[in-house]
Amino acid sequence: MQLSNYHSHCNFCDGRSYPEDFVRFAVARGFRAYGFSSHSPLPFETFWNMSRDDMDEYLAEIARLKAKYEGQIELYVGLEVDFLDRTYNASIPYFRNLPLDYRIGSIHFLPLSPVLEERNMACIDGAYSEFARTVDAFFEGDIRRMVRRYFEAEMEMVEAGGIDIVGHIDKIYMNGQRYPGFSLDAEWYRRPLLDLLDFVRERGLMVEVNTKNLVKKGETYPHRQFLGELRSRRIPVMVNSDCHYPDLVNDGRAEGFRLLEQAGFDATMELVGGKWTEIGLRREK
Ligand SMILES: [Zn+2]
Ligand SMILES: [Zn+2]
Repeated sequence: MQLSNYHSHCNFCDGRSYPEDFVRFAVARGFRAYGFSSHSPLPFETFWNMSRDDMDEYLAEIARLKAKYEGQIELYVGLEVDFLDRTYNASIPYFRNLPLDYRIGSIHFLPLSPVLEERNMACIDGAYSEFARTVDAFFEGDIRRMVRRYFEAEMEMVEAGGIDIVGHIDKIYMNGQRYPGFSLDAEWYRRPLLDLLDFVRERGLMVEVNTKNLVKKGETYPHRQFLGELRSRRIPVMVNSDCHYPDLVNDGRAEGFRLLEQAGFDATMELVGGKWTEIGLRREK
């Protein structure tokens, strides 16, 4: 099992500690590689996204840590870039020109208007009460419409490009499954997800197995029942904890690898010397 993590947050966004605290925990747990992926700047300020003004300092701080911990752990700098719409996503020059080791593309917001302001954003990743109000008010109380909109946005994100990894690809089910009428087994849910996986494969992207809610809620993104669909499409994967607290750098990893093995995977993608490399599951570290 690889001891690595490429999806993580720190106090440059909504992570709860300094980058170096995360590195110390990763080193203490014997990690081979660790990557930072702060929430990207947006056209508007939020509580959890990085500010554009802090980008230089973020890059400089991770560069400092890379040098300081050389020989102990491989450190990488990435971003978790929000896909908002075709005009604001990882493919725009601002993100393409940043000197990053990798980019994760994620959807947290579905814009309700072409005017990209926070008040026009339907957040899919926040509190359930807010999510339910959004489905009621903007999707006519029909969870199928929200799901369709989410997977359309995921398709647009993959189409737009500029990313290496699709982040928490089906996060919509976290809140969606609590809304009346939702079903992971319904054709209206499965078909757009499977079409998305086909498209991800066609574009040669990686998909993370996100374990942020695995220990707490028993959930992975992608949902465990779809891991076999990734495997049959030969989609490359890695296990990421999406941690916001240093003591959670390794949260859910062992179980995540177990689920991958059960689904028939025999390798994960790992950054080794700066290159994405397929590493067998059974190789130590
Ligand atoms: Zn995210
Ligand atoms: Zn994240």
